[in-house]
Amino acid sequence: MNKYLKQLIDISKIDKEIDSFEIRIAEAKADINRILKKKESLQNEISNFQDEVKEVSLKLGKNDAHLAELNKKLEDIAKKWKMVKTEKENKALSLEDEITKEQVTFANEEIERLGKNKAAKEEEISKLENQIQQLNAEEQKLEQAVKEKLDSIHQQRDEVFQEKHKLVADMDQKIISFYEKIRKWAKNTSVVPIYKQACGGCFIRLNDKIFADVIKSENIITCPHCGRIIYFKPELSSPEPAEDKTSKVRTKKAKVVEDAENLSLEEAE
Ligand SMILES: [Zn+2]
Repeated sequence: MNKYLKQLIDISKIDKEIDSFEIRIAEAKADINRILKKKESLQNEISNFQDEVKEVSLKLGKNDAHLAELNKKLEDIAKKWKMVKTEKENKALSLEDEITKEQVTFANEEIERLGKNKAAKEEEISKLENQIQQLNAEEQKLEQAVKEKLDSIHQQRDEVFQEKHKLVADMDQKIISFYEKIRKWAKNTSVVPIYKQACGGCFIRLNDKIFADVIKSENIITCPHCGRIIYFKPELSSPEPAEDKTSKVRTKKAKVVEDAENLSLEEAE
């Protein structure tokens, strides 16, 4: 095989491996991230409840002040009784007294209602805080395991980086920049083996001339359809791919007919 082609296959495998480390790192962190996200959403719920508690407390304060005013008013009414002289004044003062007492009852009820409301919200907050504490404990337990996993991944990644560094130092710079240009869009499918007689990147069939050239492996060859670098891997290519394909389709069709027959038999039973 052409030496440069061999290098390209090797470096594409290394780049693929390097990319896979990102996925492995993300996977290792997934459980911790799930916990962090859950904690964040609980924290948001808590601060919503805290805002509501603040609002209820304000209302409670207003009602307390109102109740104090009403009590003061009742005291004044009690003093006025001594000064009542006529029946009309008596009636008016009685009415005022009655209305004020009703208002006191209402204010007390309101204070009780708000107090219960506030307590319920505070209980929700403490439940949520408990949940956060549980998550904190879970997080702590996980942390060491994740750290060990990440350390091992980082170490393996460093080794692969070194491998790449060595290989790149050996390679022709023109070939590297040619490869990097393809990699910009084709990512990890920049250098692909052919399957049957098709490009392993775009899966479009190659003509016989290019197929023969790829098998020879004397030059770096790109797919005429997509531009990826293609190479020959004997176990992936059979000499007559087209025929193979139709026979597969035929088998599939036969299978469908067979299934249909089985089905109708089952139904008949
Ligand atoms: Zn292609």
